[in-house]
Amino acid sequence: MGRMKILVANLGSTSLKYRLFDFSGGQERLLTRGGMERLTDHAPAIESCLAELRQGGWITRESDLAAVGFKTIMARGVNGCVRLDESVVRAMEDYASIAPAHNPPYIAGIRLFAKFMPGVPLVALFETAFYQWAPEAAMRYAVPEAWCQAGIRRWGFHGASHKFIAERSAEMLCRQDVAHRARQLYVDGGKSPVREPALRVVSCHLGGSSSVTGIRNGVAVGNSMGLTPQSGLPQNNRVGDLDVFALPFLMRSTGLTLEEAERLLCKESGLKALSGGYNDFRDIVARAEQGDGPAKLALDVYAHHIRHWIGSYFLQLNGLDALVFTAGIGENQAGVRTEICRDLDQLGLKLDPKLNAETKAREAVISAPESAVKIIVIPTNEELVVAREVRRFLQNPSTPSLNP
Ligand code: AMP
Repeated sequence: MGRMKILVANLGSTSLKYRLFDFSGGQERLLTRGGMERLTDHAPAIESCLAELRQGGWITRESDLAAVGFKTIMARGVNGCVRLDESVVRAMEDYASIAPAHNPPYIAGIRLFAKFMPGVPLVALFETAFYQWAPEAAMRYAVPEAWCQAGIRRWGFHGASHKFIAERSAEMLCRQDVAHRARQLYVDGGKSPVREPALRVVSCHLGGSSSVTGIRNGVAVGNSMGLTPQSGLPQNNRVGDLDVFALPFLMRSTGLTLEEAERLLCKESGLKALSGGYNDFRDIVARAEQGDGPAKLALDVYAHHIRHWIGSYFLQLNGLDALVFTAGIGENQAGVRTEICRDLDQLGLKLDPKLNAETKAREAVISAPESAVKIIVIPTNEELVVAREVRRFLQNPSTPSLNP
């Protein structure tokens, strides 16, 4: 195979992060990475990303890139790894109102890449892909059949991150068979052989956006996020789970409009609402340490909900071999990990306080030697998962998992 450089663009509402991988000659190398934050306009950011790649000598012309990969969130009727053509972008537009913080920046960014690099294939790996093999009972809402047909079901998100954790945790626990099954998941739907006993992992992706997933033998059994990325755990400024009857009640009793309710639920809720206006976890922790009541409550609610989901998967998986923490908060905030693992010794989980305190942004086992369940920190690598699937897609565009 010739040149195989794949750029993965990670588009946030106000940020652009990228990683450039080289798969030439069957190897797998990260060539460079970069990004910009606090953006008001993605167009100059994308132009400067491409300029950085050229100035760094990583690419000299458009055709040096085999593809640009995107960690897209959700689209009507589309799942898995697909070529981004107009129909897929329209399917993302169809769901822009239920993923308002995610789909619009991705759609805008994808259109800009298509304009700046018209000859380069653009390929998406949807975050929902990892849950295609989760049990139906875990993914259904108890709604009329017509609603279900219209897509009202649990989809689950952070698929790239949780898939990376499925692979990496299995490697760390010396279960190459399970790591292989997780790696091959989008090719064979989890059919590659594994030995007994089953490997049971709970992955906590805790960041600006957070979710918990249960994983049996490399395959997800569910995710704390449901229909949309506003659900599940309290997010940085998005609401998390809420009884749906709150909305009609407030609209009727206070005159709240639908548009204002959507704005409040997507931008002014979650940890920001609980903490009295703080979006960044570091600020909330700092305020809680100074004795601020709302900040302390925000931390307590967050840990409570995370424990709720860990407990759910502990049961669904019939016990646990490893509890994994990842993403900005999970990798860096020892205090949150302490709170989540508090008083679980009867269930076989015991942190080593020193190892926990020392571990920041690196891979480490942080449980005590006598802990039956390993507690592990693993820095996530979502871009690598996207790049691998994009590469596989380029080699074989009819990969069976594309549209289940
Ligand atoms: P993410 O969405 O994974 O980038 O995570 C963002 C969240 O992680 C923010 O709320 C940050 O406060 C937190 N975070 C990121 N880096 C650090 C760090 N080095 N130390 C503590 N918290 C961090």
